[in-house]
Amino acid sequence: PLHDALYAPLRGQDRVLMHLPDGATLSADGFARMVAQAAGALRALGLEPGDRVALQVAKSPQALALIGGAVAAGVVFLPLNTAYTPQEVAYFITDAGARLLVADPARAEALAPVAQAAGAQLATLGADGGGSVAQAMAAAPDTFAPQDRAPDDLAAFLYTSGTTGRSKGAMLTQDNLLSNARVLAEAWRFSADDVLLHALPVFHTHGLFVATNTVLLTGGAMILHPGFDLDAVIADLPSATAMMGVPTFYTRLLDDPRFTRDLVAHMRLFTSGSAPLLAETHAAFQARTGHRIVERYGMTETNMNTSNPYDGDRRPGTVGPPLPGVEVIITDPDTGADLPQGETGMIEVRGPNVFKGYWNMPEKTAEELRPNGFFITGDLGRFDADGYLQIVGRAKDLIISGGYNVYPKEVELLLDEAEGVLESAVIGVPHPDFGEAVLAVIVPAPGAAPTPAALEGLLRDRIARYKQPKGYEILPALPRNTMGKVQKAELRARFAQRFK
Ligand code: ATP
Ligand code: MG
Repeated sequence: PLHDALYAPLRGQDRVLMHLPDGATLSADGFARMVAQAAGALRALGLEPGDRVALQVAKSPQALALIGGAVAAGVVFLPLNTAYTPQEVAYFITDAGARLLVADPARAEALAPVAQAAGAQLATLGADGGGSVAQAMAAAPDTFAPQDRAPDDLAAFLYTSGTTGRSKGAMLTQDNLLSNARVLAEAWRFSADDVLLHALPVFHTHGLFVATNTVLLTGGAMILHPGFDLDAVIADLPSATAMMGVPTFYTRLLDDPRFTRDLVAHMRLFTSGSAPLLAETHAAFQARTGHRIVERYGMTETNMNTSNPYDGDRRPGTVGPPLPGVEVIITDPDTGADLPQGETGMIEVRGPNVFKGYWNMPEKTAEELRPNGFFITGDLGRFDADGYLQIVGRAKDLIISGGYNVYPKEVELLLDEAEGVLESAVIGVPHPDFGEAVLAVIVPAPGAAPTPAALEGLLRDRIARYKQPKGYEILPALPRNTMGKVQKAELRARFAQRFK
């Protein structure tokens, strides 16, 4: 079904599908041929339906065609973060039982022993479209009879970002991906007239599925950027109708005086996700451009679950109501019982978007995927009176100090407002008396030097004593991954001895 909906319709279409960094364009038909050739290349390399291919490759039309080729050939693809070291790649390809690893030619030497140990073949695909896979593609016919697939057949193993622990391989089916692409296309009104500025990585659900599949499904075009480069994004915004970003895209744009109302007056849509968008950023964006960013909420295991509406109120600090077909409930994290409207608890989701389970992790799957189909996301949140979901943070980041629950976000929001504070991260670290103590990590605004005494004074009357940080640390920046997610586990490790 995925192939029929996303790739088959491109055949014979002369229109532009991709605008490439060098100014060249690729037509829909040209891409469809590449997809067929990639499917043929995968077969020539010995891959059968259900086999796994791991891809650690630069973002390029060839890389996207290889993913399409895997879909056509019924091969399960697992895209890997390009930042992973050979040692990390070893875990993923061994865990997934990948039959083939496709990597950048520059890394072939380092990855050869890793592939060999995992029993995978190694093939190459470069950022410029060169390499052994490219050769195999060139040698393959430009038509391919797609493998029959049922909606419930696996399409991808997508590994989670590893923010809270070891990355887990989420088994995503054909229909998980297709149903979500359909829902998003409709919710965000994508059409053949759209040109999406695509600067997200394609090894993560956001750039790969949310961005790429929505455009493929609806017949629009994309401007493919290898990554987020501020100058390049500013140069191409005038040619785009929509952009999807992580919050750091928006803060970086807002920091640049070239990013003006005029530059984006013609745009119809900006979306944000993968990490929380500060209400302050939403407001600054609206003040500068007149556009209200549509914030949405999803994850590797479920694709997208909620989104602020296209028409109607887009509420800063919320991720909107559930998308059509997706059920979202709030439960007691300890008992799993449903909580009354308005209370904060565990976010659980059910729908055609929800994955089949974690590959090779039956216990983890049983812990997080209930028999009734609800997935326990690990995120805490609450619904406001109008059914908009607010994410309070991750259950694993919840601080229990002296027996009391402290939601880091409540404290962070107050600190972020303080004079001289650019941003903050509030974490729990071991403490001999309290079990955990609240520690605030502060990033000063440019040129400012906020003092712990001043911040303490600010919080004193605003929140209960047990929520007030017992210590402050000043850092030049918060540790973030490529998707802009703050790495709190790293901060907790770094400051583990703070009160010992
Ligand atoms: P791991 O599961 O391995 O710890 P991860 O959860 O960071 O890593 P992803 O699946 O990439 O891996 O990220 C999904 C998570 O990102 C969500 O569970 C949620 O915590 C966060 N997230 C996504 N969108 C938003 C948003 N709009 N606001 C706040 N958090 C968000
Ligand atoms: Mg997760």
